[in-house]
Amino acid sequence: MNREGIVIRPPSEAGSFLLPITVGCSHNKCTFCLTYKFTRFKKRDLESVMEDIELAAKYNPGIRRVFLCDGDAMCLPADEIEAVLDCLNDNFADLERVGIYANAFDILSKTPDELRALSDKKLKIAYLGLESGSDEILKRVRKGATADEMVRAVRAAEEAGIAVSVIVLLGLGSNRLSREHAKQSAEVVSRMNPSYVSALTLMLLPGTSLYKDFEKGEFEIMDPLSILQELRWFLQDIELEGPCVFRTNHASNYLPVAGTLPEDKQRMLDVIDRGLSDPGMLRPESRRAL
Ligand code: SF4
Repeated sequence: MNREGIVIRPPSEAGSFLLPITVGCSHNKCTFCLTYKFTRFKKRDLESVMEDIELAAKYNPGIRRVFLCDGDAMCLPADEIEAVLDCLNDNFADLERVGIYANAFDILSKTPDELRALSDKKLKIAYLGLESGSDEILKRVRKGATADEMVRAVRAAEEAGIAVSVIVLLGLGSNRLSREHAKQSAEVVSRMNPSYVSALTLMLLPGTSLYKDFEKGEFEIMDPLSILQELRWFLQDIELEGPCVFRTNHASNYLPVAGTLPEDKQRMLDVIDRGLSDPGMLRPESRRAL
């Protein structure tokens, strides 16, 4: 199998066949992200991708789930992604679902017909980092898209039959913008009405621009209880039709919460309230930081 650089995937793709079709991230400017900082973006040669698929089929023909890497593999033109999907469908008779990371423009640059064709060929889930619904925060962290653009992208994908898993990054607005970050992220997620929402917690990494801001005293790390309060504000303000799977079970989170919106909202808020009044419920690593 051909591998270059770091390959990452969402937690829910742990059992999937990880197939790089690009290397790195075509945007690679987010101030909090170190993943591809030292990786030059490139498309992988299609022939080499096909060879990987054929090799995997030889040893594991029963593969049901595939995740197309890297950071925003959806940036490839629709016909190139379709060619990969055709090859996957030809080689894996039991294929159920293909997933991919996507940025707003990766989706918006494709027509509704192109998105529908990808969905018909089993591209069934895209993971999109909203990070924040606040345009002020998005601009600061150089996300490269506005909240409105991300709403349009998510709605276009969902309408084409590609479920979107939207990721919000708690702590990204620091203490000063925490309330605004939570409120506007909830408003934007409500307008998106996505199939999945995850809240992760910012992990400030040395080597990122955001870490330099922290060293200069221009960015504060929020403490675990403030992060939990931010999560509560975020969840309480989400109003959507659903069904939407809501999760905070990533390793970065202080309190795992999971349920389906809208029906499980109050139950999840009750869990967060118990965490706010009893920090003993938080994960041990977070309790040390209190
Ligand atoms: S789009 Fe994603 S992978 Fe690319 S720099 Fe931003 S956070 Fe990192």
